[in-house]
Amino acid sequence: MATRARVSPKEFQPAYLRLYESGELGRRVERALGLLEDCTVCPRDCRVNRLADRFAVCKTGRYAVVSSHFPHFGEEDCLRGWNGSGTIFFSWCNLRCVFCQNYDISWEGGGRATKPAELAAMMLTLQERGCHNINFVTPEHVVPQILEALPLAAAGGLRLPLVYNTSAYDSLDSIELLDGIVDIYMPDFKFWDAAMARHYSKAPNYPEAARHAIKAMHAQVGPLVFDENGLARRGLLLRHLVMPGGIAGTREILEWVARELGPDTYVNVMAQYYPAGKVSAKEYVEINRPLTAREYEGAVAAARASGLRRLDARSPLRALA
Ligand code: SF4
Repeated sequence: MATRARVSPKEFQPAYLRLYESGELGRRVERALGLLEDCTVCPRDCRVNRLADRFAVCKTGRYAVVSSHFPHFGEEDCLRGWNGSGTIFFSWCNLRCVFCQNYDISWEGGGRATKPAELAAMMLTLQERGCHNINFVTPEHVVPQILEALPLAAAGGLRLPLVYNTSAYDSLDSIELLDGIVDIYMPDFKFWDAAMARHYSKAPNYPEAARHAIKAMHAQVGPLVFDENGLARRGLLLRHLVMPGGIAGTREILEWVARELGPDTYVNVMAQYYPAGKVSAKEYVEINRPLTAREYEGAVAAARASGLRRLDARSPLRALA
């Protein structure tokens, strides 16, 4: 795959360091915590007081709930490298797709409420273990809590790039708060059609919110850039999970990405869908099967036709190319 620019590992500085040193990071924390009082952290706009530990759709009150943190070797090569991506899995979710492949984490919760010092310690532990980045998984509903922990992590010596691994159901307020802090945005653009987003996630405003959020992310960090070792250092990595029966709107999504973000956008078209969560022989039966080869081929054709030219090396699209 082509890369358009490279960053020397010795020259690399994570985005948040400058804001930490200038004091701006502290001001962002104050603004972010303010959003929790009448919660508009994500596009659900539940308006509950999470500072008082109330919660709504995302079932998360004052503190982030962490399911696990560990070096993850299942991510894209440019993130996992040779020591793994330093993943922090947040419990619960603001989008709640019925077919979620991590249903036990996103719908059933589990894990522990984690105060800022403990969250910062997790980041530092992952750095000590040699991970190449800190990868926040399902962070949309805990942006203020992540920001609150970050100055503590930076003071403790955190120097890894931050990966924001999101469904793209993010508010523009949250993305603005993360400007100059996140190094790598990794949105998974899930549905093109509002009716599908309503049916499978009870979020008819998802497609519009995702389009706005992804454009804002791209405006901040631009196309994905690697260092000399092939590790992602800054930019946008777009994921898309191909769904049975075309319910995701793959062709429309890929065309939009190529048109609005450009053909150099780094894209991982994912084929690992399998029936999970609430999907069964009784409910959501139309997606109670894996993808077919024909559906793969349709995604291949859509990617080629859209002009996208930076497909992830492990993408099935590449394998079939
Ligand atoms: S972050 Fe949670 S409580 Fe806040 S608006 Fe989103 S779903 Fe609702």
